[in-house]
Amino acid sequence: MTDCIFCKIAHGDIPSSKLYEDDDVLAFHDIHPKAPVHFLVIPKRHIDSLFVVDDSDAPLLGKLMVTASKLAREQGLSEGYKTIVHTGEAGGQEVFHLHVHVLGEAA
Ligand code: 5GP
Ligand code: ZN
Repeated sequence: MTDCIFCKIAHGDIPSSKLYEDDDVLAFHDIHPKAPVHFLVIPKRHIDSLFVVDDSDAPLLGKLMVTASKLAREQGLSEGYKTIVHTGEAGGQEVFHLHVHVLGEAA
């Protein structure tokens, strides 16, 4: 998806403050943080939203959550944190490339 901002970030065409990257997923700080620690975990492959996932996406979706957990630990969010996935405009989604928000404050 050439006009997708998170695809451009995943391909390195737009800079981001990266926390983690492997073949499947990428994590980077949100450009407008709504908490002292606020990062996003995305699949590198374009997926619009949770609206369009199916059983074949289960391993990748699991990896997004496990990556969120590992990075939250690394970021010192030991007292707890929020994970949010906005789905569709009515669900508050602004960027239509699936992403998990992780928000919290280091203990
Ligand atoms: P949502 O689609 O779940 O409402 O949120 C999209 C999130 O992406 C917002 O929190 C917004 O600040 C963040 N965002 C949008 N564009 C960029 C960007 O170019 N770089 C980064 N790092 N974050 C972005
Ligand atoms: Zn995309």
